[in-house]
Amino acid sequence: MIKSESKTVTKIHDFDVAVVGGGVSGAYCAWRLQRTPTEQLGSDLALLAKQHPNKKLRVGLFEYSDRIGERLLSLHLPGVDLPVELGSVRFLESHKRVVKLVEHFGLSKEELPVSDPNGKHLFYLRGYHSTASDWNRPGFDPPYRLENSELVPISCLKHNCIYNQLMDN
Ligand SMILES: Cc1cc2nc3c(=O)[nH]c(=O)nc-3n(C[C@H](O)[C@H](O)[C@H](O)COP(=O)(O)OP(=O)(O)OC[C@H]3O[C@@H](n4cnc5c(N)ncnc54)[C@H](O)[C@@H]3O)c2cc1C
Repeated sequence: MIKSESKTVTKIHDFDVAVVGGGVSGAYCAWRLQRTPTEQLGSDLALLAKQHPNKKLRVGLFEYSDRIGERLLSLHLPGVDLPVELGSVRFLESHKRVVKLVEHFGLSKEELPVSDPNGKHLFYLRGYHSTASDWNRPGFDPPYRLENSELVPISCLKHNCIYNQLMDN
């Protein structure tokens, strides 16, 4: 990663590829580009790679914040033995790239059943505890408790309305 305040940013022209954004997508792209053998790269990228003694692309990963991962975040909290995931936590077998990465790095994984026929899953929203069956109960009033500052004119929600209509159709 190159930080904007770093002097190395002046060497930006040394890169063949600039990946912007160091979330999991950007980090994965940069990693794949750098390790893909020249003969498996597209012709334009292969030409660039062949100019270097090691025949590898020079890839720069540019991240705006001071942390790689963005929406992936594991925290170690006092008194808790396991890392707590504040972002992404589950993946499906159909997420083929994630499955391969987990295998490649030898990461451990556990089955996480999500079926909840009796509505026992626990919810915690704005200081209010509830269960899935509460949310399904007619008349249940979701505890969103929006502050006045969080209320926005309906026109600001236009995008979501249009999106929902498209999805309904
Ligand atoms: C609470 C939560 C739970 C989730 N649970 C799951 C789950 O269980 N399973 C699942 O599959 N997914 C889950 N997701 C979604 C998943 O985390 C995201 O889809 C994924 O992490 C997105 O990765 P990304 O790299 O595309 O984007 P991001 O993680 O958003 O990364 C984008 C990066 O680009 C940087 N950036 C943006 N603009 C610039 C710029 N101009 N210059 C430099 N840097 C820039 C940002 O700072 C950021 O670091 C969850 C997300 C959240 C928030």
